[in-house]
Amino acid sequence: MRRWQWQQAGGRRHAYDAETTRPQVGDPLPVLCGHDVVPGEADLLGKWLEPTCWACDREVRVRENFPAAEIPPLPEPSSAPEAPSPRTLDVSPRPPHPRGPH
Ligand SMILES: [Zn+2]
Repeated sequence: MRRWQWQQAGGRRHAYDAETTRPQVGDPLPVLCGHDVVPGEADLLGKWLEPTCWACDREVRVRENFPAAEIPPLPEPSSAPEAPSPRTLDVSPRPPHPRGPH
């Protein structure tokens, strides 16, 4: 079993240490990026549609001793934690701009 497991919570997919942590509905989940997140029932049972937490992704790479070239820099120090990252791949498609009737 891999030590670093992923769990959706708080609007992101975070990584946690499976050796010490077991996600429970309603229990605070210690995740690698240090955010305070609490998985809900839908997070444990439903589909995971939330974007990856890149801070957790980076932490996993660092702890797994990935080569430096495969460890991405964090997008922003902390000034804009919710700013969209250029590495975000799962951007939901925007609806076409509505136009007036012909
Ligand atoms: Zn995280």
